[in-house]
Amino acid sequence: MQIKSRDADTSAINRFIYIQQGNILCTTDGIWLHSQASEVTVKWLEQPLFVAELDATNIYMQVIEDEISSGLQAHHGRDMMTLLTEAESDLLARALQLSHWLQDHQFCGRCGRATTLHKVDYGMCCEACRHTQYPRISPCIIVVVTGPKGVLLARNTRFPVGRFSALAGFVEAGESVEAAVHREVKEEVGIDIKNLQYIGSQSWSFPHSLMMGYMAEYKAGEIAVDGVEIDEADWFRPDCLPDLPFRFSIARRLVEIGLAKIAK
Ligand SMILES: [Zn+2]
Repeated sequence: MQIKSRDADTSAINRFIYIQQGNILCTTDGIWLHSQASEVTVKWLEQPLFVAELDATNIYMQVIEDEISSGLQAHHGRDMMTLLTEAESDLLARALQLSHWLQDHQFCGRCGRATTLHKVDYGMCCEACRHTQYPRISPCIIVVVTGPKGVLLARNTRFPVGRFSALAGFVEAGESVEAAVHREVKEEVGIDIKNLQYIGSQSWSFPHSLMMGYMAEYKAGEIAVDGVEIDEADWFRPDCLPDLPFRFSIARRLVEIGLAKIAK
């Protein structure tokens, strides 16, 4: 996927993603990149918005009004991403993130008047007070801790039974990313950690996070879950793993690194 300015290559093929209330509209036979722009779209986004280029195809997205057109079905983006290639999954994530931003910034956050899409940039502009609202990106940390008993994974209260993942949380205002890693692990499972290692990042569009992935080592403490965000947490070894996050997620990548580390 190539992210460029909003100027699409006019010689390339165009495809359109229809998004409705955070869901992707697909045909009954599973097509989600539509060959035609939808005529049913919202007033504050009258033209399809260029998302990115994928395999020499210009991908646009449209936010669709409430009624589902006949022959289309709504699918949750997170479910769809598990079925796509990594490049398609990244593309869908960007389209969803842009749709959340557009829906949440129809009005100026400073003076309350209606906004319009900037002619060139990804920005929602207020003509009255000149305030421009760009796509919101919220930094988050995500971390897998390794220790003598295995890799530390947790079950978020929103996860289905049996699904475990890395620990994660938002970076607070005025906080460094490293301090957020220590704080989140301590708050959620009561463990002290050491030797942080940055691994990589991933945009996560539910709704607008930028996940920064770390590995860490156990330092001290016993597992004590907070009961608010985390229901269960435990140390896992490769021969006894729970249901893990999907294959292209940064969470899964960190879990795999952790498992390889304890196997040495
Ligand atoms: Zn304003």
